[in-house]
Amino acid sequence: MAYDYDDQNIFAMILRGDIPNDTVMETEHTLAFRDIRPQAPEHVLVIPKGAYVTHDDFALNASDAEIVDFTRVAGKICALLGVQPGEGGAGYRTLSNAGDDAIQEVPHYHLHILAGRNLGPMLKHD
Ligand code: AMP
Repeated sequence: MAYDYDDQNIFAMILRGDIPNDTVMETEHTLAFRDIRPQAPEHVLVIPKGAYVTHDDFALNASDAEIVDFTRVAGKICALLGVQPGEGGAGYRTLSNAGDDAIQEVPHYHLHILAGRNLGPMLKHD
């Protein structure tokens, strides 16, 4: 089943310039900006400019150019933040929530990049 894209979601509004954002990096296909409710000292969201809902939607339906651009921007953000473990940084976490079980709040694909403190275990267990 294909995804229905809700063009009234908040990231679509950001991409249209209807509401402001704290941009960290922008390219032809990708925008990276600071999360409005940061959950770590560094919390950046990377989003494609195209209308994709989840990681699988983007990975399966975006063009090669969009995917390469998005992936490179995510890497460049890690470099910009100085958190690359291979370069002496303290590390980071990337994650993307999709759908109900992951409690996805905004139905436009986004990659969270979190860093700046020990981020604890990947998931909390009940
Ligand atoms: P998710 O639960 O993975 O869909 O995460 C959505 C994220 O978007 C949350 O971390 C929110 O804090 C963030 N967010 C919501 N509205 C904005 C906004 N206007 N600017 C920046 N980040 C936002």
